Amino acid sequence: MRRRQSVIPSEGWIDVSVRLRSGMVHWPGDPDVKIERILKMERGDHCNVSTISMSSHTGTHVDAPYHFIENGDGIHDMAFTSMIGQARVIEIENQHCIKPEELKPNKIRKGERVLFKTINSKRCWNTETFVEDFVYLSTESIEYLVEKRVKTIGVDYLSVGGYIKNIDEVHKSLLGAGIWIIEGLNLSRVSQGNYDLICLPLNIINGDGAPARAILRPI
Ligand SMILES: [Zn+2]
Repeated sequence: MRRRQSVIPSEGWIDVSVRLRSGMVHWPGDPDVKIERILKMERGDHCNVSTISMSSHTGTHVDAPYHFIENGDGIHDMAFTSMIGQARVIEIENQHCIKPEELKPNKIRKGERVLFKTINSKRCWNTETFVEDFVYLSTESIEYLVEKRVKTIGVDYLSVGGYIKNIDEVHKSLLGAGIWIIEGLNLSRVSQGNYDLICLPLNIINGDGAPARAILRPI
């Protein structure tokens, strides 16, 4: 099959979202990603058209409060300022878990958008197998970030909480505190520092989450 060569004029913007494709990694128990061409020009159809089937929490995506909070806001209620504006990438050294001791020296402030770059970015996206021991935010770290009243948190694998660890409690704490979450970033191409962030999830009415494109530009 002939493929168009992809040369996107980036103007300084760096793509930190993962590419969607059939068979890609997803949260255990979620349905497989299927992107299927139902009309094909190579077969004589007048254009190319696909169907897309996937969980709302696959790949790079935004969690809405309604994901874990009854009567919480849906994805269509998201304020653009949650996902557009200055953001800070913080590099984490701990290869198991993000702990408050590692966050405190960064002097995180109220209203910040913080994206945590861990070993996940390099390690987890090159395989189609779900990585169970990805680096996650400890419950104490979440308490710290809620106390700091950050605006938005981004992580570089499929959940803020750890697999079979603290998923429910950390989602409830963050989303209940009005903090919006980006999951499934790939931050391997950026380093610690300040960036402009644009991350726009699909506008799904009452959505619990939605796939998103996320880009950063160094400030
Ligand atoms: Zn999610």
